[in-house]
Amino acid sequence: MRIGIPGGLLYYRYGRLWRSFLEELGAEVVESGETTRSILSSGVSKAENESCLPVKVFYGHVLALKDKVDALFVPRVVSVKRKTHTCPKMLGLPDLARAACEDQVPVIAPTIDFRTGFWSNYHAVYSTGRMFTGSLSRIAWAGLKAWGDYRRYQRSLQQGLFPRGKLEIDPSQRLCSGNDLTVAVIGHHYNVYDTFTTMSLLDRLRSMGVDVVTADMIPGKLAERELARLPKPLYWSYEEEIVGAILACSRYRLVNGIIFIISFPCGPDSIVRVICEQENRRLGGPPMMTMVIDEHTGESGFLTRIEAFVDMLRRRAGSRVREEVPSPA
Ligand code: SF4
Repeated sequence: MRIGIPGGLLYYRYGRLWRSFLEELGAEVVESGETTRSILSSGVSKAENESCLPVKVFYGHVLALKDKVDALFVPRVVSVKRKTHTCPKMLGLPDLARAACEDQVPVIAPTIDFRTGFWSNYHAVYSTGRMFTGSLSRIAWAGLKAWGDYRRYQRSLQQGLFPRGKLEIDPSQRLCSGNDLTVAVIGHHYNVYDTFTTMSLLDRLRSMGVDVVTADMIPGKLAERELARLPKPLYWSYEEEIVGAILACSRYRLVNGIIFIISFPCGPDSIVRVICEQENRRLGGPPMMTMVIDEHTGESGFLTRIEAFVDMLRRRAGSRVREEVPSPA
């Protein structure tokens, strides 16, 4: 059975886990690969106008796969942490995938919801496994193997390695290599690691001699401490990670500057943006620039802003060093 995994949205987070699980169950996994101009164009032409950029990209990935597979695998991820939700657009992804392929291809859509406790998620995994095998031990082994691969992938991201192509991690590709300027690039995984929609931002910063820090690389304890200081808990699972990472950078001066990547028109991020900008100012954190991307974002304007931001951070860092070095007189 050929199962397609669209390479958009939560693929950048759980793609390794899903692929490993399905392969262990004996499925042939087909992925749509990296986002390309034609994937984006087909997604933009078919998706609702009001959809955010990552949903349009996801739509394009579904269209790229629909004639090549026997079924699509699009889990409905409702919540990954107690008392939080994912964004409403993610809740509807399996329905969106069905609409994109006009019900010509079945969509396997287990519901993952950590508000409901362990057993309902266990049932979701088990019932997915039963589509491929009747052996309970094989399903359990596939689940454990997939979890192990996922944890290894996560550790690689925490160590500053970044995924390329089909989530392949190249140990020689490190985001930090001892440069004197460090910039945090914070945002959803599908915004930060999709090289096409972000116009290879991570590579470009590295080629400018800048070390890059992502939300995965911020110590979890610092981020949790910042979240606990907020007057109210945040409602969204993944936005919590973003806010925790940005506020940890602000309070502890972990970086020289922060670039916050947002997709247009994202409801949750537009709220989170205000919280982060206000708190960063209040804490006297490093300069922060918010980049809003959509399918019309031009490469030259995008790069000019990045280069100007890095130049400003360099001048700022240089003037600090001059202030700290006493004059010979
Ligand atoms: S969180 Fe924002 S960018 Fe992500 S799917 Fe929801 S609306 Fe789109």
